[in-house]
Amino acid sequence: MKSHAKVVVIGGGVVGASVLYHLTKAGWKDVLLIERAELTSGSTWHAAGGMHTVNGDPNVAKLQQYTIQLYKEIEAISGQSCGVHITGGIMLAGTRERLDWLKMAKARGRYLGMELEMLSVDEAEKLFPLMDKKHFVGAMYDPIEGHVDPYGVTHAYAKSAQIGGAEIVRQTRVTDLKPRTDGGWEVITDHGNVVAEHVVNAAGLWAREVGRMVGIELPVLAMEHQYLITGDMPELAGKKEQLHAIDFEGEIYIRQERAGMLMGTYERAGVPWSETATPWDFGQDLLPNDLERIAPSLELGFQHFPALEGAGIKKVVNGPFTFAPDGNPLIGPVRGLSNFWVACGVMAGFSQGGGVGLALSQWMVEGDPGADIWGMDVARYGDWTTLAYTNAKVRENYSRRFSIRFPNEELPAARPLRTTPIYEKLLNAHAVFGDYCALEHPLWFAPTAEEAVDKVSFRRSNAHPHVGLECAAVRDAVGLLEISNYGKFDVRGPAAAEWLSTVMANAVPKVGRIALTPMLNERGKLIGDFTLCRLAPDHFFVVGTYAAEVFYMRWFEQHLPPQGVTVRPCAMEYVGLSVAGPKSRELLQSLVREDLSTAAFPFMSFRRMSVGMVPAYVGRVSFTGELGYELWVTTDYQRALYDSLIAAGREVGLKLFGGRALNALRIEKNFGTWAREYRPIYGPFEANLGRFVDFKKAHFIGRSAALEERDSGGALRLVGFSIDAADADALGDEPIWHDGHVVGWVTSGAFGHRVGASLALGYVPAAVASADGGFEIEIIGERHRATRLTGAAYDPTGALMRT
Ligand SMILES: Cc1cc2nc3c(=O)[nH]c(=O)nc-3n(C[C@H](O)[C@H](O)[C@H](O)COP(=O)(O)OP(=O)(O)OC[C@H]3O[C@@H](n4cnc5c(N)ncnc54)[C@H](O)[C@@H]3O)c2cc1C
Repeated sequence: MKSHAKVVVIGGGVVGASVLYHLTKAGWKDVLLIERAELTSGSTWHAAGGMHTVNGDPNVAKLQQYTIQLYKEIEAISGQSCGVHITGGIMLAGTRERLDWLKMAKARGRYLGMELEMLSVDEAEKLFPLMDKKHFVGAMYDPIEGHVDPYGVTHAYAKSAQIGGAEIVRQTRVTDLKPRTDGGWEVITDHGNVVAEHVVNAAGLWAREVGRMVGIELPVLAMEHQYLITGDMPELAGKKEQLHAIDFEGEIYIRQERAGMLMGTYERAGVPWSETATPWDFGQDLLPNDLERIAPSLELGFQHFPALEGAGIKKVVNGPFTFAPDGNPLIGPVRGLSNFWVACGVMAGFSQGGGVGLALSQWMVEGDPGADIWGMDVARYGDWTTLAYTNAKVRENYSRRFSIRFPNEELPAARPLRTTPIYEKLLNAHAVFGDYCALEHPLWFAPTAEEAVDKVSFRRSNAHPHVGLECAAVRDAVGLLEISNYGKFDVRGPAAAEWLSTVMANAVPKVGRIALTPMLNERGKLIGDFTLCRLAPDHFFVVGTYAAEVFYMRWFEQHLPPQGVTVRPCAMEYVGLSVAGPKSRELLQSLVREDLSTAAFPFMSFRRMSVGMVPAYVGRVSFTGELGYELWVTTDYQRALYDSLIAAGREVGLKLFGGRALNALRIEKNFGTWAREYRPIYGPFEANLGRFVDFKKAHFIGRSAALEERDSGGALRLVGFSIDAADADALGDEPIWHDGHVVGWVTSGAFGHRVGASLALGYVPAAVASADGGFEIEIIGERHRATRLTGAAYDPTGALMRT
């Protein structure tokens, strides 16, 4: 084994091998993979090898498409067969909701270039005669589905990497990792040490253990997973290979394996494996079968696919593989550690392994993953992912693998975990809560405790009229919203202003003022949107997206000067309440001594004030588009602030409102939000944020790329639409049609209660962004006429929030 390497990849499963191959492909040849036993010795060797392109996150779906296309390439380079069988796949719906879900997946597939097709049950039966059609109501067909040989794929990656210059060392275990003063790592193994510039944790089943070597607890947990292979079936003899099939209601996947069928299930009562520590002596082992546990699924399987019952069971496989709490991979550099990367929690290695290797290698070599991998970024999780939290969420995710997640469905596991001081008060006011980074936040308020429950639906739900009343209160009088679920950062020091001016695209505000600003990467793409509030020449209170706190801190820390500025995340030290609506000034004025008139405290002002007895930061700004104020207080004062606002609000018709109303109100105003309208695939001019980019500044990150985008106009444009929709609104990811072709996608949608219309925001090519007509938006499989809005649907001049 060499003593120095640019990169050491720990783990020779399908993921580590893919990372190794992609590093060599990106030009880094001095790369070494260290494997504890033989290649594939973790989850990989006993995988069922199934692969598919459909994924709830379009960005992950793109990486899955890439993975499947890659197999030809690595076979050609390595000469090693991947055992690819592209059989096509069929997803079977047993309920109307599932059929709706499939229609939505098909619609999403349109702008991803996927050729998905809806089938009647009769058509489905023709393609997949093993099904008993009486249990189903329809299906979707995907021509690009199939399975591969896990051994073949891993060795094809590995050989291709070796041909590209990589070295692979087997039967060698990494036992510890020590950081070096030069930013690299001392990789300690049971067969000697290696000095590495970068380390990649691709240790699969042992990713937690490798994480612990560097002091982190990665949110991954292995679950036991069982599949069985039937005896030979005469029904298959002499026939073309059967399709892959997913039977959602039966919670079963099924495909042909030689002359029999392979049938696997994600059972409801899933069992975690090695909950706290993975044994190092676990090798190419299987776990004892437990057919009893999957008996209910098998029973359904035999009803739905009767020929299987008589075929007998030839083999049962029970093996563990890892999941993150949301089931998506964990990739990227770990905040606070130099040159330490992860590529783990990959639960669908044969659909996602290639994409994960590509994104991670580009990130390492080019400094940017080259794709929108927010949904897989290890930085999407923060301190709340304790071992027990991860355990509860992974079990829930596993048990729901084939369940529909409705847009208004909040999942119950690990809740309530994080609450603010007014949680019980909001509960008593019949709040329906959502879970955001494990923090409870109010979504809407019901009139009674009995009604405070979401009836899940793809269509307008039971919350609709109540959200409408909340919106009306904000537009006509005043509403009170808890806004604790924002990220907050305390930025201070003599170099704070200069530094913020470099990392943010807009001009830094004057003392007492607020500036909205995008944050761009070097490619001029959006990696954040912030509210900068200046308290003093050397002190800023910065508000952004809480879910991206670790992501932001990782970026900030990479770009901080050695001295002169400190950035401290303080999300839960400061919690917030917002009052918004035409009567919000009257309400707040009754509690503060300062003059709140526009002359004295205009739009975008920020100041310390006492609100009643409570010391607060007060900003005159509101995401609702109304006159409004955001009040930030340390956590100990939140109850008192809430009580005084409620008491004073009685005079002016104050009503509580929640996140659902806020979403509808901001869409009426065409206001975008992070992870929806603002993502690293869009530039600021495409996202209509050009007015917040200050080219008068000589330097800020992304300036030259943003300048280019300004001059070219960018490829895409964010556009607002109103839709002729009767009972269901757009949610996000629906296709936008123009003149009979799919040209773009929706990023957000809601019913605009004040304007009385179904609204959506979405991206279309710049060339069609000013077309007058011909737009349609597809909601649950139906195309609806959409009218492009030339400005915000509500108060397009923005006069109301400035008055
Ligand atoms: C029963 C079953 C069925 C499955 N079916 C499918 C399917 O149909 N389709 C699909 O896409 N996925 C399937 N999977 C999931 C798939 O197996 C995983 O997504 C994939 O194997 C993850 O690969 P990995 O490289 O991340 O991890 P692993 O395969 O666990 O590889 C990690 C490697 O790292 C090595 N290692 C760990 N620690 C160290 C150390 N300290 N030093 C050196 N080496 C170390 C291990 O020995 C191991 O070889 C299935 C899994 C199971 C269990």
